[in-house]
Amino acid sequence: MLHEKLSSIYDNVLRRNPGETEFHQAVREVLESIGPVLGKHPEYAESKIIERICEPERQIIFRVPWEDDRGEVQINRGFRVEFNSALGPYKGGLRFHPSVYLGIVKFLGFEQIFKNSLTGLPIGGGKGGSDFDPKGRSEREIMRFCQSFMTELYRHIGEYTDVPAGDIGVGGREIGYLFGQYKRITNRYESGVITGKGIGYGGAQVRTEATGYGCTFFVDEMLKARGTSFDGKRVVVSGSGNVAIYTIEKVQQLGGTVVACSDSSGYVVDPKGIDLDLLKQIKEVERLRVDVYAKRRGGESSFVAGRSIWEVPCEVAMPSATQNELTGRDAETLVRNGCIAVGEGANMPTMPEGIKVFREAGVAFGVGKAANAGGVATSALEMQQNASRDSWTFERSERRLQEIMQDIHARCLAAADEYGMPGDYVAGANIDGFKRVADAMLALGLI
Ligand code: GLU
Repeated sequence: MLHEKLSSIYDNVLRRNPGETEFHQAVREVLESIGPVLGKHPEYAESKIIERICEPERQIIFRVPWEDDRGEVQINRGFRVEFNSALGPYKGGLRFHPSVYLGIVKFLGFEQIFKNSLTGLPIGGGKGGSDFDPKGRSEREIMRFCQSFMTELYRHIGEYTDVPAGDIGVGGREIGYLFGQYKRITNRYESGVITGKGIGYGGAQVRTEATGYGCTFFVDEMLKARGTSFDGKRVVVSGSGNVAIYTIEKVQQLGGTVVACSDSSGYVVDPKGIDLDLLKQIKEVERLRVDVYAKRRGGESSFVAGRSIWEVPCEVAMPSATQNELTGRDAETLVRNGCIAVGEGANMPTMPEGIKVFREAGVAFGVGKAANAGGVATSALEMQQNASRDSWTFERSERRLQEIMQDIHARCLAAADEYGMPGDYVAGANIDGFKRVADAMLALGLI
C-alpha cells in the first residue's frame, strides 16, 4: 500500500514514463518502503526529493552501426541513463541483451542509485546497454560492436563523470574492447573510466568474483542472524553466468551443496553438488548451454527443459539470472519445500507477489540492491586502486568485500528496526539507501 502523497508521485511516474513496466515496478518497491521516513523527515517532501530521484539527471540514446562477418550493415540502439550523481560519478554496468530498451535501463539505473548508496562508497547511479544480441556472434563481431558502441559513449563518460562496467552480456572480453577503443579515441590511458578490466591492465583482484562472493557473504550473514549457516544446506542458484558461477564457488567453500543451476535453455540438477570446474569449462571457455553439463557429467545429474528451476527442493535460493525470474507461485513452491533464505544475485529477480509470499512466510529475503551490491562495491575499490596507481592482493580485496557486505547487512537491519519493520531487508535497504542519497541532495541544493 502506498502512502497518499507517494501514490500521487507514483501516478506521475506512470504518466511520464509510459510502457516502462520494469521501471514502474522498481519505483513502486522503493516508494512502498519509504512512507515512514517521510513522516520523520518533512524536509524531503518540501524539497521534492522523491520526485527528483525518480527523474534521471540525463538520458542518452544513440545509434550503434556496425558490420557483421558477412559484410552486412547492422544497426543497434545504445543507451546510457545517468540517473543520480549526488554521491559520486554515475556508476553502473552495461547490459547487451535483445530485451534491452529504455524501461530496462531505467529500472536498472534506478536500483543502482540505492545499491551504490548502500555500499557507503562515493558512487552515484547509472546504467547503460544495448539491444545487441551477442549470442552466436563471432569474436570479431563482438569487437566491432564494442568499438562502435564506445565511439559514441566515450564523449559522455570519464573518471569523474560516469564510470561504466559489465552486466548481462558484458564481461571481461567486452570491457577490454570498450576500454581499448576509449583509449584509442582519447589518446589517454584513463584506467578509472571503466571497471571490470583484466588484472593485467588496471583491473582489480576479486572484481570477477565479487557479485557472487558478495551475495553469498550477505546470505551467510542472514543465516548467522538466525543462528544457522550454509553448512550442509542445499542451495539452488539460477543462471550460470558470472554471478551464478562465483556464487556457487563461495557457497561450496562455506559448506553448502549447490544442487541446481540453469540458463535460458533449462536447468540441471546434480544432487551430489555441481562440478564447478566442468561448469566453468562449458560456460566460460566453450560458451555452450547447460544441457552439455548433464551429458558430460553423467551419474545422477540431469537436464530439465521448459520448467522452473524453483521446483528443485532447497533451503537456500539464490536467483542469479535476470529480472522477474521468480514468480509468486515459485515462491510458494520454495516455501512449501522448506526454503528459509533467499539471496538475490540478479537485479529484481523476484516478482512483487513472490516478495509478498516470502515476507508472509518469514523467509529471510536478501533483496538484490543489498545482496548483490558486492559487484559494484568492488568496482569502487577498482576505481580507488586506479586513482592511487595501486593494486591490492586477492586476500585484502576479499576481506574488504566481506566487511562491506557485513556492513550493508547490519545497516539494513538497523534501518528496518528503526522504522518499525524488524527483519525486513527490503524496507531496510530502501530506507538506508534512500536516506543517504536524499541527505546529499538536500546538502547540494536545488540542482
Ligand atoms: N552490473 C553490476 C550491478 O548490477 C555492477 C555494476 C558496476 O560494477 O558498476 O551492480
